Amino acid sequence: MMKIFTSKKLLLALCPLLLFLLAFPYSGLAKKKKPARKAKITESRVLESENHIRILFYLNNIPEYSHGFIPADIDKNLPDRLYIDFRHLLLNPATLPTKNLPEKAIKKLRYGQKSKDEVRLVFDLTGAYNYKVSKLAKPTRLAIDLEIKPKPAIAAEEKPALQEVEPVSSELMVTPPPEPEEQNYIIVLDPGHGGDDTGAVGPTGLQEKNVALDLTLLLAEELKNDGNITIYLTRDKDKELELAARSTFANNQKADLFISLHSNASTERALSGFSTYYLNNTDDRFSQRLAAQENSVSSEEVTPLEHVLNDLKMNQITASSQKLAELVQSKTMDIIGSNELGVKDQGVKSALFYVLLGARMPAILIECNFISNPHEEQLLASPEYREKLIAGIAAGIREYLKPAQK
Ligand SMILES: [Zn+2]
Repeated sequence: MMKIFTSKKLLLALCPLLLFLLAFPYSGLAKKKKPARKAKITESRVLESENHIRILFYLNNIPEYSHGFIPADIDKNLPDRLYIDFRHLLLNPATLPTKNLPEKAIKKLRYGQKSKDEVRLVFDLTGAYNYKVSKLAKPTRLAIDLEIKPKPAIAAEEKPALQEVEPVSSELMVTPPPEPEEQNYIIVLDPGHGGDDTGAVGPTGLQEKNVALDLTLLLAEELKNDGNITIYLTRDKDKELELAARSTFANNQKADLFISLHSNASTERALSGFSTYYLNNTDDRFSQRLAAQENSVSSEEVTPLEHVLNDLKMNQITASSQKLAELVQSKTMDIIGSNELGVKDQGVKSALFYVLLGARMPAILIECNFISNPHEEQLLASPEYREKLIAGIAAGIREYLKPAQK
């Protein structure tokens, strides 16, 4: 049955659109430079978690800026410092976060006029930390993220108290590391959608949520055969599940991989093919468009998760996610891209998928064909084709888990 989508239904039905995007880079939106309008900081906020501090400057627009780290100078009794210089900024000290700074990382914030049209902010730090400065849109903000590592000397002394892990016995310490093939992995599989959220619906009524669940159950069976893989499912039946709950579940299971299964959809019925996504800050035009459409997520909802995104550890996870995505894509295309089936290779893409965002491990989202394409809907309905998809996806995962790949 052909269904005409209203714009609201379209949003609900199109799979990639359902995966709310959070923030997107400011780049590409910059208008032609006008010299007149001075930037102002209207408000500042400081967010703090165990190993991460985020300082947010809310601005009417982002001025030119530069930043750097200056190591401590013992002779001059100066600590490690992080500075940020703004050009054409009207400084109102009342809007700076001078008061509630986390003492564990920042001693104080100083500010001053560096030159006629340049303002410098200096954070006196308690140590040398990794940091990152990034622009955020809607609302316009500049974020400074500090990754705090325990100081080596203190860390060594306090380690037993800080970490609630079982003590390592001397016997364990002299045991050589296990052989690579003995390593066990935990994989969380996430069938997209569920319950009232059907996901996309094909021309004859095949529902994405059901395809995703069946594929997930098949993949779980397939991977369990390996013996060294433990599988957890975010859902094993038809039930509704919030997006954030899915990656949170994976975090709680301490999963090594998080894999979300979906089918793509488009109002363009001719669109077809197989693609794998991983979480990344991307300037890919498609992703940008999605980001623009999906920015209805309020900043209140965004903040804690942005936190995660900007955590510097995400860089490493992103690289691993990309590797996993590439292997899954290529191994699956080896099977379904053959002449007989001829499924189009839509490639590996990156986007700010909400469902992947909170994941603290390599995470990918697989778009198994276009359920909106009549031919591919038929493929997805066929058990033989589902087996082929699973064989390809499982091969990609296995390849990734080989020690040399990581
Ligand atoms: Zn979907």
